[in-house]
Amino acid sequence: MKEIITNISLSSLPKLVSELGLRSFAADQLIQWLYQKRIPTFEDMTNLSKATRHALAERFEIDALEVVGIQKATDGTKKFLCKATDGAAVECVLIPADDGRLTVCLSTQVGCKMGCTFCRTARMGFKRDLTHGEIVGQLLLVMRDADVDVTNVVLMGMGEPMANYGAVSEAVRTICDGRAFGLSKMRVTVSTAGLIPELCEFSQEFGVKIAISLNATTDEVRSSIMPINRKYPITKIMEFCRDYSKRSRHRVTFEYVMMKGINDSEDDAHRLVELLTGVSAKVNLIPFNPFDECDYEAPDRETVTWWSEFLYTSGIQANIRVSRGQEILADGTPVDGVFQVNTYTTGYQRTPGVAGANGQFVVVWQSDGSYSTDLDHSIQGQRLMSDAVIFTDGFESGDTSAWSSTIGGH
Ligand code: SF4
Repeated sequence: MKEIITNISLSSLPKLVSELGLRSFAADQLIQWLYQKRIPTFEDMTNLSKATRHALAERFEIDALEVVGIQKATDGTKKFLCKATDGAAVECVLIPADDGRLTVCLSTQVGCKMGCTFCRTARMGFKRDLTHGEIVGQLLLVMRDADVDVTNVVLMGMGEPMANYGAVSEAVRTICDGRAFGLSKMRVTVSTAGLIPELCEFSQEFGVKIAISLNATTDEVRSSIMPINRKYPITKIMEFCRDYSKRSRHRVTFEYVMMKGINDSEDDAHRLVELLTGVSAKVNLIPFNPFDECDYEAPDRETVTWWSEFLYTSGIQANIRVSRGQEILADGTPVDGVFQVNTYTTGYQRTPGVAGANGQFVVVWQSDGSYSTDLDHSIQGQRLMSDAVIFTDGFESGDTSAWSSTIGGH
């Protein structure tokens, strides 16, 4: 069986080209062919000699994964189901945004051993870590399919990135290396359930953005839904976040999967605001999407809206993560007529709760991409701000079928 060349880290490629008897600059040529030009065969690497191309093809394959299924949602979101050489299934998602950003959500493990009780991936158990080639390979396959450069990468799919430290580190190096994918560190986000020692080391080494899968405001509740909290409780997480946001000046994203009667009380909202004091923070509220063999319920729509408004008026940006691509992320069946309500501020100055020139609008998005407002302010034809604060509305009471968490659960 041939080796996978994308499993070799960028820093190890010079050794390979030296073994092949090539001059050292051939390593950079190889990197450009693999990750910038993203060509699928050695034959097309036209600035390498025929003999070199032949030698490479004799020994290596390029892709660690193949695409075995693509599902496309009405909003342009695409979910890719990929298969590794051992048959393991890996998912990644391309998510277009209205402001032109193209984000890819990558998986880092097959399954996950963190055991979060609300997460579908946890139900699979842990199969294995993904390799460097399988992590960057997701990005390669998506970019080849879309034939565009992506603008953002989030490591937020299946698995806990900090539990696969070596391969994730090499993958982030490749994603940010100017000879390869060349993304700015500011456009790469790693999401974690809170493996603090690894996270400290990783954040210092890479300076990428960090998202914390928080999901509770007391240790009692968090330990009951996220076993990792018994080892690294909320105080440890917040210590890290305070230090990180001071050190890096990056805003920390907090993912908060809302489950009815578990973590969605008004007391929880107040505690969350207290916890985030001193941290430059953004909160993604993710209404729990019920699935078989899981007893948690989705929060009431009013509760989610109240939380979003409460956080906003407390000076914290809160996004409700719904809608984009959810119809394919749920069970593969398209859902028509899904829409959501966005509230956002105009201009560059945020004034929470105050209407006016820098005030709030309510925008109703339709599934065909059109939108309207239910306030007097006419926004038709205006470009929405990319940092929109999103509120949810428009679902029939009790209809949470169209709500979804992210694919991995982070
Ligand atoms: S939420 Fe994230 S860390 Fe927890 S089990 Fe799911 S994938 Fe793993």
